[in-house]
Amino acid sequence: MLDEIEQEREGWRRKAREVAKNVVAPRAAEIDETGEFAWDLVEAYSKYGFLSLVISKEYGGMDTDITSFCLVTEEIANICASSALLVIVQAVGTMPVVLGGTNELKERVLPQLAKEKGLICFCLTEPDSGSDAASVRTKAVLKDDHYVINGRKCFITNGGVADFYTVFAATNPDKKIEGITSFVIKKGTPGLTIGKTEEKMGIRGSNTTEVILEDVKVPINQRIGDEGAGWWQMMRTLNRSRPAIGAQAVGLAQGALDYLIRFVQGKGLAKGKEDRLGVQLTLADMAVEIEAARALVYKAANMMDEKVKGAPVQMFSAMSKYFASDVAMKVTTNAVQILQWEGLTKNHPVERMMRDAKVIQIFEGTNQIQRMVVAHTLLKGR
Ligand SMILES: Cc1cc2nc3c(=O)[nH]c(=O)nc-3n(C[C@H](O)[C@H](O)[C@H](O)COP(=O)(O)OP(=O)(O)OC[C@H]3O[C@@H](n4cnc5c(N)ncnc54)[C@H](O)[C@@H]3O)c2cc1C
Repeated sequence: MLDEIEQEREGWRRKAREVAKNVVAPRAAEIDETGEFAWDLVEAYSKYGFLSLVISKEYGGMDTDITSFCLVTEEIANICASSALLVIVQAVGTMPVVLGGTNELKERVLPQLAKEKGLICFCLTEPDSGSDAASVRTKAVLKDDHYVINGRKCFITNGGVADFYTVFAATNPDKKIEGITSFVIKKGTPGLTIGKTEEKMGIRGSNTTEVILEDVKVPINQRIGDEGAGWWQMMRTLNRSRPAIGAQAVGLAQGALDYLIRFVQGKGLAKGKEDRLGVQLTLADMAVEIEAARALVYKAANMMDEKVKGAPVQMFSAMSKYFASDVAMKVTTNAVQILQWEGLTKNHPVERMMRDAKVIQIFEGTNQIQRMVVAHTLLKGR
């Protein structure tokens, strides 16, 4: 008998699988080819609650745990990783408000995301501050009843399509991480404009842009929590979202393996002749590595859900992101190798998955940075 929580999680997995099969699958190749933002998916996801997973019920959201968030992401990424990113980014942009916002700010922002199909994005990276997020150059200066924000953000997912922008800025640069503060800014606020839209090799259906802030006046009540709380809101958000990025990588890798199994069976490479053994052993390795990545992802998610004091959540979240995306890269590269000319063909599903896997190794903190987080935790205090 599944207990109530497991039943609920299973329900989310079923729903996501259904949407992936019926709504995402017919669109995946076209989304990749055109690189256009899929407004029809916003419509479908919002109907199923995928855009308000981490918002509590009092604001109209679904109030799921991190495990369910990962399950939804994995199922969609099994068909199209780019389409899964829409679910992740919405949660990433929302979480600082959920974790640190006043009730009044939550009341003004969250129902618009949960009930009115509003999109939100997460604006941290800048041209001179990517991995080294502590040195954010965007400045917010308090003047009477509002802040004046100036700076330039880059590689912002959904930058060109969002209704709200969660922006990290320095309110006191001398204090380094203690001087970082976050704000929610509404689309259309004077001074907030969209710069270059990136043309990417993978995850092409997600909209990635520069966000430019020039003398943007932001009322104090749009600050998320206290001055100086931004760094911790950002870290707590990434601890929750990195397992979901890991789940995105697991779903993608599983999608590639599923395709490859059908291919190998269809070509008669599965009959056990010695000269085909190499292909079969590669399939076995892929399956084992995907299962190992999946176990790590759900261990990290479960650690977050159980809220055990002192648990190394940051380390497991980093481990799950980098291990799963490295597995996805390896699995898709080997899959293309086995598919040969077919896999090299432009817009082949596995070719798309290989390009998408490369991007997952880079965003939400590169895999080198995740390794540093793990090493730092291992060595701390010894
Ligand atoms: C498709 C896509 C979507 C994105 N979406 C968002 C978004 O929505 N919001 C947002 O804020 N950001 C977003 N990003 C930005 C992303 O998180 C950054 O690209 C990433 O954190 C790396 O920063 P950077 O590009 O400035 O590289 P850099 O920090 O300049 O790093 C360059 C290289 O050096 C390595 N490196 C850097 N420091 C070290 C170190 N100390 N030790 C070892 N290696 C190191 C890095 O791993 C990397 O390989 C997105 C990026 C992409 C590609």
